Amino acid sequence: MAVSEFALIQRFFTAPALRNPLNQLGVGDDCALIKIPVGSEMAITVDTMVEGVHFFPAADPELLGQKLLAVNLSDLAAMGASPVSATLALTLPEVNEAWLQSFAKGLNQMAERYNLDLIGGDTTRGPLTLSLQLMGWVPEGQAIKRSGASVGDLIYVTGSGLGEAGLGLKVEQGYTVNNPEQVLNKFHNPEPRIIEGLKIRSYASACIDLSDGIASDLLHILDKSQVGALLDWEKIPLSLQLKNYIQQTADWKLPLTAGEDYELCFTISPDRVDDLDIVCTQVGVIESQPGLRIQREGVIQALGAKGFEHFS
Ligand code: ADP
Ligand code: MG
Repeated sequence: MAVSEFALIQRFFTAPALRNPLNQLGVGDDCALIKIPVGSEMAITVDTMVEGVHFFPAADPELLGQKLLAVNLSDLAAMGASPVSATLALTLPEVNEAWLQSFAKGLNQMAERYNLDLIGGDTTRGPLTLSLQLMGWVPEGQAIKRSGASVGDLIYVTGSGLGEAGLGLKVEQGYTVNNPEQVLNKFHNPEPRIIEGLKIRSYASACIDLSDGIASDLLHILDKSQVGALLDWEKIPLSLQLKNYIQQTADWKLPLTAGEDYELCFTISPDRVDDLDIVCTQVGVIESQPGLRIQREGVIQALGAKGFEHFS
């Protein structure tokens, strides 16, 4: 696509001005330039979305642009970092101007909301693949790592309910609910918990964002921190729709195992809970015994390699 590549980048991916003052040079040179504030560390993450694997071929390009940035912002949020800049590697089967226009619009809306700039990228021809790298900063030594959880820490999740995106996916696949707008919006247009990540940075001991479901994501904190955990099923926050879904299907594992909620799961020492200043719910506690256990209706089950198993 050599002939139109520069015109395409100019038209869809070059902003008239940079909005974040740390960005010194944006799209158009061999490299972009970012100023790194004294006493800070850069937080860097990348995520790729492949058509047919991570999104449906008919997916709305504006929502794709938003979501591509949102899933990367969620990783920055989990570290307690502030977003600064993004680079975009685009692989396109063809130049579809209407598609590019909508995709760029969605990306730019999310970039504006979180005060970051698209400062560079790469454009190639091939099967539709969207890859975005995101850079942010955090004061030196203050990033919230997965390795900081201690025995006795309490486990919290942000937001008003788990499993919302999972139910949204089920609706996309044909499951019927009353008023599907909320779960569809959570699935297509997740709001990254950047504000929450910045607030909990001063008191959370460990944090991860929920991309695969708490039953699998929390294992990463347990692994890196060399601890175990007990979740309390009755404390998991659930929307009315999720409660109805579970009542109808008996699929109580969905809020634990469905992905893409992009809420934060963090741990905090009990003597810091008075500092909590975000919408969140305590769902469990860190224990010394390795592994992840879930208590439900008085029965404790362990989550093993093959999924849920009765705990004995
Ligand atoms: P080079 O050959 O030096 O790597 P390119 O010709 O690939 O440069 O890109 C020209 C400029 O356009 C560079 O500044 C690059 O970062 C930017 N760019 C290329 N593709 C994209 C894209 N999809 N989104 C944003 N910027 C892009
Ligand atoms: Mg070059």
